[in-house]
This record gives sequence, structure tokens and C-alpha cells, in this order.
Amino acid sequence: MLAFAVEATSERARAGRLTTPHGVVDTPAFMPVGTAAAVKAVTRRDLEEAGAQILLANTYHLMLRPGDELVRDLGGLHGFTGWPGPFLTDSGGYQVFSLAKLRHLSDEGVMFQSHLDGSKHVLTPERAMEIQQNLGADVVMAFDECAPHPAPREAVEQAVARTTRWAARSRAAHGREDQWLFGIVQGGVHLDLRERSAREVLALDFPGYAIGGLSVGEPKPDMQVVLAHLDPILPAEKPRYLMGVGTPEDILEAVARGVDMFDCVLPTRNGRNGQLFTSAGRLSIRNARFRDDARPPDPDCACYTCRHHSRAYLRHLHLAGEMSAATLMTIHNLAFYLDTLRRIGQSIRLGRFAQFRTEMLRQLAAPGDEAPGPHTP
Ligand SMILES: [Zn+2]
Repeated sequence: MLAFAVEATSERARAGRLTTPHGVVDTPAFMPVGTAAAVKAVTRRDLEEAGAQILLANTYHLMLRPGDELVRDLGGLHGFTGWPGPFLTDSGGYQVFSLAKLRHLSDEGVMFQSHLDGSKHVLTPERAMEIQQNLGADVVMAFDECAPHPAPREAVEQAVARTTRWAARSRAAHGREDQWLFGIVQGGVHLDLRERSAREVLALDFPGYAIGGLSVGEPKPDMQVVLAHLDPILPAEKPRYLMGVGTPEDILEAVARGVDMFDCVLPTRNGRNGQLFTSAGRLSIRNARFRDDARPPDPDCACYTCRHHSRAYLRHLHLAGEMSAATLMTIHNLAFYLDTLRRIGQSIRLGRFAQFRTEMLRQLAAPGDEAPGPHTP
């Protein structure tokens, strides 16, 4: 049973509910990235406590290791990982184009060499559907071509045309009724190509739509212009997923333009690198000023890390190379993202999103590292 409903709007922002066979997801939603069927440095228990409702896993990584058939035989992603809630998988396209050594790209599909061991593989729309049906996520993605940025207009145009043809083949090859297959809109920063891509993919009538090819190096205002342009074109009653985005600021701006779902490696990757997102701006735990700082990372956060540990201790763990540093800081960053999305949803339901967005953007702009504040003894 899959369903989506927009339950409240505030200006263009939407709050709703995505129902899947493995549970309900409140939108707008952030999906922690579990690249290799694991969110790096944290456990299922940490994810549940931080309030994650849905995880993302990467088709490209899992087809190479441990292999999609093994995952299928062990109960799909849910059985294999022990995460009982919803999963979303990407199509593998983005990683093939960004990580693998491309051997040959044609209308048929992509021949590439694994970044792990150099082994040769082929990914086509049909194979991407087979893999994602084996992995068994609740929401899966059509196979698409993401043109790099910057790319000549002709290259983006070609990627749009191919993405449409591949979307039709993906749809024809997909047969699992307990999964929703989303179409992907490409088109770079060209508004007419975005519109063409959206109209062509919409004609195939998917239950939801992803917006790909943004946050790949284009200026931030370009992303906002593309999203504002797509907002009235995409059907209001279906979920919209902005792939691979972004910072808390990016997410606020995208919600303001009608986006419902997000994923990004920033909270987890930055957590491992000692970069913390807080309600008073970002802070780098390596900074010497935290050497004897007894405050939690974010005094306004109720996560496990902030309830139990000080900046001074986290800085020590990080500098000492302790594994728990990555775990504790990832827990905080994920909790910060998930809590931010929850608060965005609440503000939409209260009809106060515009005020919330202004206030949150002001707080996020604060220089977290230099924020004045007494060191408690
Ligand atoms: Zn925290």
C-alpha cells in the first residue's frame, strides 16, 4: 500500500505524508544516506533515536558489493540490514557517471568499470529496475543520465532526451506493485530544457517525481530558479524529491519552492570530518577554542550526543582519531537535520513557514565558531 497526501500548505511549501508498506514518512522529509546499506558510523538504534523515518541506499554500490541477488536472498534491504522502515534507492546512474570509469555510453545503457576492482558491468534501464526490485526498496528511481556541470547545452539536451527514453523503458521493466517508481527530471540550469524534461516524464505518469542534476556545482540562485520554474509544472498531488541536496539553507529554499523529499551526505560526511551543524551556525570541532568548552555541541539540541558530551570531549575524540568521534558527531548532525525538517513541517502546518524560514536562515548564518558564550565550568 503506497500513498501520498499533501495535508497542509504555507505559501508554496507543503507538509504531507508518504505511506509505504514499511511505514509512514512525514514530509518534508530528510533521508539519511546509507550508501552501502549502512549510514556510515551509526547503527539502526542511533537512526531510530534521531527520528529517521526513511533511509536511502545506492544501487551502484550495492550491485557491486555485496551484489543485489545476495541482498534479495536475505530478505531485500529490510531483511538484510535490519532497518524496518521505508527505504529509497537511486537508479545507479549518478554514481556511474561520477565514480566509475566509463567505458561506453549509448542509448542502450552504460558500460563501466567498477571503482572497487576494475570489473566490467553494464547498467541499462532494465538492469537498473532488476537490481532495484532485488534490493526491494519502497521507492525506486528510473534510470537517468545526469549531464555534468558545466556542460554544453547540446549535451544537456541529449541527456534530457535519453532520460525520457530511459524513463519509458524503466517504467516498462518495473513490475513490483509494492514499490513506487519515480521519474527523474533533468535539464541542468536551462529552464526550457527542464520544462521539456518535466513534460516528457510527466506524460509517462509516475506516482512521484525526482529532480536530478542540481547541486552539481551550479550557482545556488540557479537551483532556486529551476525549482521555482518546476513547481507549477509538477503535479501538486504527487511527491517531489530533490536528489542530493543539500545544506539546511538549500533545503529551506527548496521547501519554499514545493519540494517534499531530500537526501544528502553532508550531515554524515561532515560529522566524520568534525564539522557540526548547529542552531547557531556551523562549528568545526578542531577549533582550539573548544579545547576546554564544556557546553554540548548545540545547547538547543536534545540528541544523544548533546545530552551526554561536551565540545571539549568531542574535540579530544576527534583529534585522537577515536571511532566514537565520527559516531557521536554523525548522530548530532543527523538529529539536527531531522529536527530541522520536523520543525519546517510544523511551521507549514501552522501556516507560519515564511516566518520560520526567515528566522532559521538568520540563525544558520551566525558564525558558529565565533559565537560568544560563557564557558560553563
Ligand atoms: Zn545534538
